[in-house]
Amino acid sequence: MFHLAGLSRLSIASLAIGYAEPVGFSRWEIVLFLVLALASLSAFFARFSKVLVRIFESKKDPDFRLSPIARRVWDFVWEVMCQAKVIKERPLPGLAHAFVFWGFCAFALVTLNHFATGVGFPFLRSRTWVGGFYFWFAAAFAVLTAVSIAALFVRRLFVRPIWLGQKVSYESLFIAFLILALMVTYLGAFYVGASPGTIKALWWAHTLALLIFLPLIPHTKHLHLVLSPVTVFLKREGFSRIPPLAGDEDFGMVTGRDLTQIAALQAYSCVECGRCTEHCPAANTGKVLNPKEVILGLRGYLNELGPKSEEPLIGKHESLEALFQCTTCGSCEYQCPVGIQHLPMIIGMRRGAVNTGVWEDDYGTKLFLALEKNGNALGLSSSERDKFIAKQQFPIFDGTQEYCLWLGCMGGYDPQGREIIASFARVMEYLGTTYGVMKKEKCTGDPARRLGNDLVFQTLVEENLRNFEQNKVKRIVSICPHCVRTMAEDWKEYGVAPEIEHHSEFMARHQSRLPNKDTGETIVYHDPCYLGRYRGVYDQPRQVLALSGTVIDPPRARERSFCCGAGGGLAFLGEEQGERVSHNRAKELVETGAQVVGVACPFCNTMFRDALGATSEAPPKLLDIAQITALQLPQKVAARADG
Ligand code: SF4
Ligand code: SF4
Repeated sequence: MFHLAGLSRLSIASLAIGYAEPVGFSRWEIVLFLVLALASLSAFFARFSKVLVRIFESKKDPDFRLSPIARRVWDFVWEVMCQAKVIKERPLPGLAHAFVFWGFCAFALVTLNHFATGVGFPFLRSRTWVGGFYFWFAAAFAVLTAVSIAALFVRRLFVRPIWLGQKVSYESLFIAFLILALMVTYLGAFYVGASPGTIKALWWAHTLALLIFLPLIPHTKHLHLVLSPVTVFLKREGFSRIPPLAGDEDFGMVTGRDLTQIAALQAYSCVECGRCTEHCPAANTGKVLNPKEVILGLRGYLNELGPKSEEPLIGKHESLEALFQCTTCGSCEYQCPVGIQHLPMIIGMRRGAVNTGVWEDDYGTKLFLALEKNGNALGLSSSERDKFIAKQQFPIFDGTQEYCLWLGCMGGYDPQGREIIASFARVMEYLGTTYGVMKKEKCTGDPARRLGNDLVFQTLVEENLRNFEQNKVKRIVSICPHCVRTMAEDWKEYGVAPEIEHHSEFMARHQSRLPNKDTGETIVYHDPCYLGRYRGVYDQPRQVLALSGTVIDPPRARERSFCCGAGGGLAFLGEEQGERVSHNRAKELVETGAQVVGVACPFCNTMFRDALGATSEAPPKLLDIAQITALQLPQKVAARADG
């Protein structure tokens, strides 16, 4: 009893005393501290200044604008200060990382005071109200940081997710040890029984850990501690946006001279967490492409050769094969916690490879020729499209109708794409919406743009824009998320496209007037990359499908949806290496046990057509949301679904 009372008195005393400050530094101790601090800071800046020089010596980003500043501030607060992205995508390790980050923030003042104490000018005193509070506040974060870093240490050493790399990173383990040492030596100063000698020893141990840690930052991936807040703030506007070329002399990213400041900053900010790779459809199906290595390749190039080098980027540091395996699904950019934008770099290097003739691919050449000659990616004569329009009796757009119904290459030429268009036309007619189709529609240029052929892309865009202007088109609706994205965003470089929306958005807006008859079927919905991640449209297709059945999600859904393998022009290239991306996804869709796979993109549709049959003996039905809706319409609405 007496003992407990003593203990309780002790803890009250320790609460009153709090953080014990070291006293009585000798002149020699001060000199030693200053010499060590100077050495540490010099080692830090010796490396950090080189990184800064490489970033500043890189080419300026031609399209960079700081506005809108409010969006940048919001991203900074949300992604950096709140660590929201880090936590959302990997909740437990994310939270542990966030506590380490918040601990660092809380410790900024403590560290400054720590150094000021070493030269005899502490500005935080534990006996004052502010100092007393702040030391306890930092102590709370020290405990959370110590627990978190210990957990991350165990994860890296024993769990070792493959995305972090095959080998144990001793560098990361040592840094984790230093952070733990910083926390423990700080907390030790709260021990009420510690003698003045012990307190001073703790101060020195804490100082040494700090002075060893500081120069390691720019030499390791922990450089992200300094750079990533800036990277997040300065990242390019828009999601997976491809920056424009800076004139006729700009061939894309060919050598170090083509690396821009933003690209260099992003390359140095990579924390090597592997989140991009973990979600990459190419990396998940045995391809050479690994988005983390794309970024580290650029960093390696800058370290070795610098931004003034004329050496090609593709070769030792970047793999041509890998660059052309990217489906442009955008998962990497969506997942990256430090604001790295992979697609401007991947497409930038594709542009360089196409414009300098480094990329030679029979399928690619055939595709570009088809786009140039026939104006569509399937290489069919435009008379085939005319025949389809005549057979379906689609009205021709003449400026009087509400909508221009955009057929796209798939809707105009592909048999299954035609069925989707016919179904959607029935839905529009049922709703009483007037529409017409363009006589001389050309491909939006999406596959040329994503494969790096800006010349073909520009020609197609200009022809289409002229056509829209002549026909006074004001509003477009399309069944294809690739067309929607390309017209709404990529075309901006060459003019203003009419307002465009995806058919899922159109149908969701009119859902109260669409038939609502539950078929009793379960529909698993596959989020297309260009509708979900690129456009943020997740709920509308689900709302439309819910009119016809029970909608379920596969395990990888919404922002984490797994690509079908068609994007980035890959639908038109040859055989894939390793497992097919579409098969990987089809298996997941089949395993949900749904009777219907609901899609909202004609490219996903074409990819799953074979994949579902190849992965299941009794595959579920594959239907677009327009087809599912059209099946509910009264029979008297003219049947068009025979394509
Ligand atoms: S866009 Fe998709 S396919 Fe391309 S690197 Fe990123 S995650 Fe991989
Ligand atoms: S690019 Fe981003 S997501 Fe990928 S490893 Fe680097 S920091 Fe992580």
